[in-house]
Parts: sequence; structure tokens; C-alpha cells
Amino acid sequence: YAKSRGRDRYVVFDRKMQDRSLAIMQVEKDLRLALEREEFCLHYQPIVSLINGEIVGFEALVRWNHPQRGLVSPAEFIPIAEQTGLITSMSWWIFHQACCQLREWQLRFPHYQTLMMSINLSGKQLEQLGMVERVDRILQEVGVAASSIKLEITESSFKETPALGTILNHLKAMGFQLAIDDFGTGYSSLSRLHQFPIDTLKIDRSFINQMSRDPKGVAIVEAIVILAQHTNINTISEGIETIAQLEQLQSLNCEFGQGYLFSKPLDSHAASALLAQKVTPPSLQCISLPPCQ
Ligand code: C2E
Ligand code: MG
Ligand code: MG
Ligand code: MG
Repeated sequence: YAKSRGRDRYVVFDRKMQDRSLAIMQVEKDLRLALEREEFCLHYQPIVSLINGEIVGFEALVRWNHPQRGLVSPAEFIPIAEQTGLITSMSWWIFHQACCQLREWQLRFPHYQTLMMSINLSGKQLEQLGMVERVDRILQEVGVAASSIKLEITESSFKETPALGTILNHLKAMGFQLAIDDFGTGYSSLSRLHQFPIDTLKIDRSFINQMSRDPKGVAIVEAIVILAQHTNINTISEGIETIAQLEQLQSLNCEFGQGYLFSKPLDSHAASALLAQKVTPPSLQCISLPPCQ
């Protein structure tokens, strides 16, 4: 039995490859249909000030509301959408939708005038010809200012997109805020950071996770925050799940945070309800608020 396995391995491998590409083609077909049928929706996760607990913005996170499977995570379909190029049309839908949501909130909740919407961009979308003009057209049409939108770009797309500097300078000049997403995971060299007009570093969840277990983890986060401060960049910590992590980040002077401790990503309705209350999420009430005047 063991002997025959050696020979069969290639056959199995080939078949697996074939199954895999068939599966990808199937998902691609499904995704294309889903786009037509408007089966995608956005959820919104609050981003809060770690100093006073206030909601400063939301990150738009796409979900696939699959007729049979229910809500499908982007981790399952974004990579396939990237591979098949479908990501560009999907990303435009997402961008437009997130802008519309922000506009609605600005109108409904005037006390949240400075609320930001963070939108994830794919490297492919950034490289698309006429990208800047298209973004501009959507802003005009929806009626939101570029300055209330933060574009998140993963660290790995910095490596993959040669003309990125030029495009980012353009977007920055239009007034967008720019963030590097999952910072620390993409092997981009810190020395290149100043070449890009970056406003925000989002410290990857894996470092926040490590902090409680490993003093080196704390040192890494501290180094990122200090580096950012020296270059006039602010920091958002991703994936804050415990009070201990929150307190540690506060002592390291990280300004903003996002994570299940405050709130999971919410559907549009639930996120609106949170804004309507204008209350501090319960988990943030432990932060000592400055005395009211
Ligand atoms: P990301 O941009 O780094 O988004 C943060 C992810 O961390 C989200 O996962 C969010 O639900 C999750 N998260 C937030 N707080 C916590 C926490 O406290 N603990 C844990 N364990 N997880 C937390 P999600 O929504 O599954 O998205 C995964 C990734 O898919 C995103 O990572 C982003 O890279 C990509 N993605 C999501 N939406 C879009 C989109 O609209 N466009 C593009 N291009 N990519 C997207
Ligand atoms: Mg993101
Ligand atoms: Mg992130
Ligand atoms: Mg992440």
C-alpha cells in the first residue's frame, strides 16, 4: 500500500489542482452573478478613540449574503475575486455603497460631522486606468467630501503596485486620508514609509494578540507607535479583544482602536442605532473621560 502511494501521488496532485481550478471557476461564476443580483452588503465596524471612547468612524467590510449559505466572509471570496479580476467591479460597488452610507449618516446625525468612513482598496483597483477620475465622479454624485474618507491599502499591495506612489499622491491631493492596513505583516521596509503620503498605520491584529503573551510583542507595538508619532502619522490598533490589551495600548499612546471589545462589525441598521444613541460602548466606559465642562 505504502509503495503504490508514492506513484499515485502525482495523479492525486493533478486531480487536486484540477478540482481546485474548477472550484475557483465555479466561485467566479457565482460571484459574477452575485454582483448582478446585488447579493453583497457592507457591515460597519466602529473605530474608537482610545482616549475618550468616542466613535470616530467606521470601517466598511464586505459580506456576501448568499441565498443558501447565508453571510459569507470576505476572507473566502476576496482572494478569488482578486485572482479573477472581478475585484475591480466589486470594489467600485463597495466604494459607492460606503459613500452613500456615510452621506446618510452625515444627514441623520449632524453631531457626527467629523465621522470618517474607512474603505478597503485592492491593489488592482488602484492600478486601474482612470481610477482617480472615477473616484471623483462618485464623490460628486453622492455628495461626500474626500476628506471624510480614509482609504485602506494593505501593506502587500505596496510591493505589488509599482506606480502606487503616483496614485497615492493624486488621491492625497484630492483630500483623501490614506492608511496602511495590516501594518507589520507585509515585509515593506520602514524606510520607504516616508515616500508615501500616509496618515494612518493600522497595526495588525497579530501584534495586538501577541502583546499579552510576549514582552517582545509590546516592544513591537511600541516601536510602531513611536515611529508613527515621529513621522506625523496616527495609529489604529486592530483586533482589540480584552481590557488588558486596551490598557496596554493606552499606556503606549496608541490613539485609535477597533475590535470585538468595542463592537463587532454591524449591519447598517445596527450601526445607525449605535450612532443614534451616541453612547459610549459599555466596554469603553472603563476609560476615564475628561471632566465635562
Ligand atoms: P481588514 O481590512 O484587516 O479588516 C479587519 C478584519 O478583522 C475584519 O474581518 C474584522 O471583522 C476583523 N476583526 C475586527 N475586530 C476583530 C477582533 O477583535 N478580533 C478578531 N478576531 N477579528 C476582528 P473581515 O470582515 O472578515 O475581513 C477580512 C479581510 O477581508 C479584511 O481585513 C480585508 O482585508 C478584506 N476585506 C473586507 N472587506 C473588504 C472590501 O470591501 N474590499 C477589499 N478589497 N477587501 C475587503
Ligand atoms: Mg481594512
Ligand atoms: Mg486591517
Ligand atoms: Mg487585518
